[in-house]
Amino acid sequence: MVRPVDGLDRRQFLTRLLAAAAAGGLAACASDGDSGSGAGNGSGGTGSTAGGPPEELLASGLATSPFTLGVSSGDPLPDSVILWTRLAVDPLAADGAGGLTDDHSVRWEISADDTFETLVASGDVAATAALGHSVHVDVRGLQAGTRYHYRFRVGEHTSPVGRTGTAPADGAAVDELRFALASCQNVEVAYYAAHRSIAESDLDLVLFVGDYIYEGAGDPDALRTVPGGKCITLADYRNRYAFYHQDDDLLAARASCPWIVTWDDHEVENNYADLDSQAGASADDFAEQRFAAYQAYYEHQPIRLDPPESADWPIHRSARWGQLVDFFVLDGRQYRDDQPCGSPLDAVVSRTECDIEAAGADMLGAEQEQWLTDGLRAATATWKVLAQQTVMSALILGDIVLNVDQWDGYPQARRRLLEHIAANDIGDVVVLTGDIHTAGCGVLRTDGAESVAEPVAVEFVCTSISSNGLATAVGLDPNTLDPAIFGLTYAELIHRGYCRCTITPERWSTEFLIVEDATDPDSDVTVAATVVAEQGTPALTVV
Ligand code: FE
Ligand code: CA
Repeated sequence: MVRPVDGLDRRQFLTRLLAAAAAGGLAACASDGDSGSGAGNGSGGTGSTAGGPPEELLASGLATSPFTLGVSSGDPLPDSVILWTRLAVDPLAADGAGGLTDDHSVRWEISADDTFETLVASGDVAATAALGHSVHVDVRGLQAGTRYHYRFRVGEHTSPVGRTGTAPADGAAVDELRFALASCQNVEVAYYAAHRSIAESDLDLVLFVGDYIYEGAGDPDALRTVPGGKCITLADYRNRYAFYHQDDDLLAARASCPWIVTWDDHEVENNYADLDSQAGASADDFAEQRFAAYQAYYEHQPIRLDPPESADWPIHRSARWGQLVDFFVLDGRQYRDDQPCGSPLDAVVSRTECDIEAAGADMLGAEQEQWLTDGLRAATATWKVLAQQTVMSALILGDIVLNVDQWDGYPQARRRLLEHIAANDIGDVVVLTGDIHTAGCGVLRTDGAESVAEPVAVEFVCTSISSNGLATAVGLDPNTLDPAIFGLTYAELIHRGYCRCTITPERWSTEFLIVEDATDPDSDVTVAATVVAEQGTPALTVV
C-alpha cells in the first residue's frame, strides 16, 4: 500500500501516488463507478423611490475620480439588492485609506436603463473613513424579478454603470436561472479571461465561493506582483483588495450582475481554522488579524450584513430564487476544528497511521450546522443549493487522504449532513464548491468516505479563475489521470475557468468553461464539458 514516506514532501509524494494511480498500479478505494433572506441590514442610505432628476451635488473637492475600485451589487431579495462601491483616489496609499481622509456623501441612483433619464430610486449615503470609504446601500421597494442599472456620484464625479436585478417573488414559478460559480483568483499567476467571459455571459448571478484574494507576500517573479508583504493589518488587506481591483475584467464581472459571496481561507490566511493560525500566530494576535481581514472583506463585498465589530462575524446566510432554488451560503472556515492529525498540511495523510474518524473534527460548528439542517428540512424550492468552500466528495486513494483540509478531514460532519439529507428525504440537493483549482463533479453518498451507500446529492466543483491548478502543483501529466480513480463523474485538471449553471424546474445543467491560455488576458474561453442532473434523481450525466 502506498504511504507517505519520510523525507518526501507532499508534492513529491502526490506526484508518485498519482503516477501510480494513472498507471493502474493503485486500485480506487471501493469505487462502485458512479460515473455516471438574508441576515442583517447593510448600512443603507436614506432612499427615495420617487423619480425625477437628482438635485445638484456639491463639488467633491476631489481632483480625480474616487471611483477607482469599481461597482458591484449583491444578495438580491425580491424587493431589494445591496449596491456597493468603495471610494479611493490613491487606491494603494500606504495607510490603506485610499488617499482620502474625510467622510464623503455618495449619491446612488437606480434606473430601468443605462441612460438614467428616469430614476427608479436614489438617495445619499455616507462613505466613512472608518469603513474604508466603502458604501453598502440596501435599496428597498424594487420590483421582483426585474433587471436594473445603477451608478454612484460624488460631486462632479460619476461611477461606471453596473447592472443588477432582484430575485423573483417568493414562491413564484421560475422558468430558468443562469449563474456563474467561481473561486480562487490569485492575481499574481494568471490573467482574468474567465471574468471577461462571466461579464459577457448575461447572467442572473455570480456565486463566488472563496479565495477572492491571496494574502501571501508579493513574488517579484510573478506575472503581476502584489505590492507588500504578507497581509496582517487592515491596511495590508485593504490594499490587497485594491490591487486586485485594478483588473478591468474583474471589475466588469463584478458590475455585470448581482454576486452572492462567501470566503475560504486565503481571505485571511492559508488553511486557517477558526482561531488556529497555520503560520504560528498566537490566538490573540490571530484574532486581531482575522478581525482586520474580515473588515476588509466586508468593505469590498456587496454583502447583506452589518460590518464586523470583532473577529467573530457570522456570514452564513440563505437566499431564494422563487420556487426554483433555496441557497444556503456556508462558512467552512470560521468555526471549524483544526485539521486533524496534527495539521499535516505538508504531507498527505495515511488513514492507518492517523485515525481521522477518531479526531471527530467539526466543519461548520454546532450553530451553523443546526441552521443548515433545519433550513434544508424546511426548504420548499425545487433545488437546494449549498454554496461552500472545500470539496465534499471523497478524494481518497487506498489508504491515503489527499487533503485533510477538505471534508475528507471532517468525515463525521460530512456523514451527519448527508445522513440528514437522506433521512429526511430531501431531494435535489446540489453542493457547489471551489478551492481545489481543478474542475470536477460527482455524486455524494451517505458514507462519503467509502462511496458504497445511497446517493443523496451531487457536487459540482469549479476550477480556479486564475490560481495554479493541481497539475502544476504536482507536476504530473493530467491527461493520464482518470477521474474514475476518485469515483468522480468528470474531472478537468489542466485549465483555469469557471462553471456556468443553467437551472430549470426539470434539469440542472453545468457547463465547465476553460481558459485556453491563462497567461493571455485575451484568451479564448470555451466549454470543455456539460454535465446535467435531472430533477428527482441524484445522478450526473456528461452530455
Ligand atoms: Fe484557492
Ligand atoms: Ca482555499
